[in-house]
Amino acid sequence: MRCPFCGHPESQVKDSRPSDDGAAIRRRRSCPECGGRFTTFERVQLREITILKRSGRRTPFDRDKLARSIAIATRKRPIEPDRIERMISQIVRQLESLGETELPSSVVGEMVMKQLKALDDVAYVRYASVYRDFREAAEFATFLGREGLSESGEDDR
Ligand SMILES: [Zn+2]
Repeated sequence: MRCPFCGHPESQVKDSRPSDDGAAIRRRRSCPECGGRFTTFERVQLREITILKRSGRRTPFDRDKLARSIAIATRKRPIEPDRIERMISQIVRQLESLGETELPSSVVGEMVMKQLKALDDVAYVRYASVYRDFREAAEFATFLGREGLSESGEDDR
């Protein structure tokens, strides 16, 4: 693995251990040239998946991007980081197991919402409000009511 600091073509593995509920190997590496230290993750990738966005653009599926969107939704919520990491791995496995090389972004969005809903109501609502892109406050209120997550906590039906 090339050193990201000085570009030296080789680095040494200092430590290697499973992480991510056994779904990944985490390696601590160091560069013999500049002494720089960095971490790499080795994961199974069954196939490359292309995501077809609503705009019609195609982009390679990016696990880190998925992880960032989930990190935003779960920010400051009382959820174990391991739990989130496992959820991400589970979503990726589900996506891969669909056996498609191209998937609409809505498939990923629905999968994330389903997982978040089981995990944390607040994270779910945060993600859904971004993902569904509610144009009107009324749309959002209707959504919350339908999901039984009315913010006021009152039964308004
Ligand atoms: Zn280096």
